[in-house]
This record gives sequence, structure tokens and C-alpha cells, in this order.
Amino acid sequence: MNKQPVISIASGKGGTGKTTVAVNLARVLGSPVQLLDCDVEEPNDHLFLNGAAQKEEIVVIPIPQVDESLCDGCAECGRFCQYHAIVSFGTKPLVFPDMCHGCGGCAKVCPKKAIREIDKRIGTVGTIMAENITLIQGRLDVGVAMAPPLIRAVKSRLRDDLPAILDAPPGTSCPVIATLRETDFTILVTEPTPFGLHDLTLAVDMIRELKVPFGVVVNRVGMGDDRVHVFCKEQNIPVLLEIPDDRRIAEAYSRGELIVNALPEYRGLFLSLIAKIMNLKNSGISVSTKEP
Ligand code: SF4
Ligand code: SF4
Repeated sequence: MNKQPVISIASGKGGTGKTTVAVNLARVLGSPVQLLDCDVEEPNDHLFLNGAAQKEEIVVIPIPQVDESLCDGCAECGRFCQYHAIVSFGTKPLVFPDMCHGCGGCAKVCPKKAIREIDKRIGTVGTIMAENITLIQGRLDVGVAMAPPLIRAVKSRLRDDLPAILDAPPGTSCPVIATLRETDFTILVTEPTPFGLHDLTLAVDMIRELKVPFGVVVNRVGMGDDRVHVFCKEQNIPVLLEIPDDRRIAEAYSRGELIVNALPEYRGLFLSLIAKIMNLKNSGISVSTKEP
């Protein structure tokens, strides 16, 4: 079976409607789909899906522990670590577990084999079944700042035989890049305001660096101005969908309801988003959809 497409959904800032697009797109597909909530610091896709929790797994990363009886203070480990999570000044090294990404490099370069790895819990990955959607969500433990390893753990649960939608964290920082990397297509969600345009330009720069094909969804069309549309036209960026500034959408959102359930007239809008992505020459995406 051919590998199924992986579509990521991102936005340069929070509150633009990224989650709205992710959950409604997943539901309107109708056929089995994986929805990965990679916004591990604040996962909220589950709020819109009345599903049954299946299982929750603890995610750990390996962090170094130094055997002082073997260490000669050569400082190779500190020179290797680009995150400054292990530091030696010609002495036995200090380890800063909260800064460690668990890459295992320091243990490998230690000539004295003085470093062994111990597990440090960073969060959980849970699975929820909700009709056609298998929701896989990461949840970072309180006080843990290491989102990328947990996002990679969420993505490692992806099955090749089902299409997938990845809901990225907001912004353009490392957790976003960890989410978007190696996806087949990215939808950038924005709103027609000066702030929306500013954050969209940052997101466009990021996605071009990653060389992932992308298009834009403009949410709350009718408010603000046309600068986002002008920018997209100038940059030759496809506007895939315009979601109107409809008070009923905000009301459905505040009740934790999917737009496509509360306002069925919007089903066609979200189905057209899939069709437009498939029609883009550079997306290479083909997704089967099923009307209920
Ligand atoms: S495991 Fe990697 S990130 Fe952690 S201290 Fe060692 S080299 Fe640094
Ligand atoms: S590389 Fe190994 S021997 Fe050298 S300072 Fe680090 S732990 Fe000690």
C-alpha cells in the first residue's frame, strides 16, 4: 500500500484558528484518519472530539549520569554538547537535566566510558478514538521545557497506511519545526489583520526553509483588511480556504463543538480545502474523502 499523506497545520501565532481547521478537516474526511496533537504544552484537540481514551504511555528521554570514579575531567562531553547541558572545566562534569535533549552524544564521545544514561520522564502520549478519528496527543509534564523529543514521540506513533493531520504548536520555534519536518504539505492558518500578516510572513520564511509545500487558510474573513490576501498574491502563495467571520462559529467553538457538526453548511467549505490541496501540482497529495 502507498504511504498515506501527512498534512501539518501551523500558524505564526496562537488564536488564529489552527485547531479549528485541524479538527474539522479530520472529521469532514469521513474515512479513518490520524490526528496528531503536537501542541504538547497545551493540547486541546480532544476538547472537540467526544472520544474514548484508549491508552496513555509515559515518554522518557535518556539523560547522562557520570561515574566520577571513571571520569578524568577531560571535558570532551561538554565540548560535544551543543545545548550546554553537561559542562566540565577540567573537572568532573555538571549535568543540567532540564537542558538535556537526550541525544546520547556525550556518552558516545566519553573516552573513559564514564557516562551511563538514565531515564527522565518528560510527558505522556495518549490515544483517543473518536468516530473516524484516531487522536494521538502528547502532553508535556508541568515544568518540563523539552517539547521536541515529546513531539518526536507523538510522530513515531504515525501509521503509514492512514492519512494524518498534524496540529502544530503556534509560532516558528523548535517545537513547530519538529512537527512540520518531513510532512507532505503544510496549511498555514492566519487572520486578515496586521498581526496576522506579520506572523504569517515569519511562518512563510520558516516553511520555505523546510522546503515543505504549503498554502494558506484565512480565518475570520470580513474583519481586518486585505493585506494578507495582497501578500499571498505577491508571493504566489495559494489561498486555499477563507472562513468567514461568523459569530455562530465562535459560539460553536466556545461550546466545544465542531463547526461541521454545529453548522453543516460549512462541510462543503472544509471538503473544498482537501480538494484544493490535491489539485495543487506540487502537493503530490491524494486523500480519499467520504460524505456521511
Ligand atoms: S545527552 Fe545530548 S543533550 Fe544531553 S547532555 Fe548529553 S550531549 Fe547534551
Ligand atoms: S568525557 Fe567522560 S571522562 Fe571526559 S569529562 Fe566527560 S565524563 Fe569525564
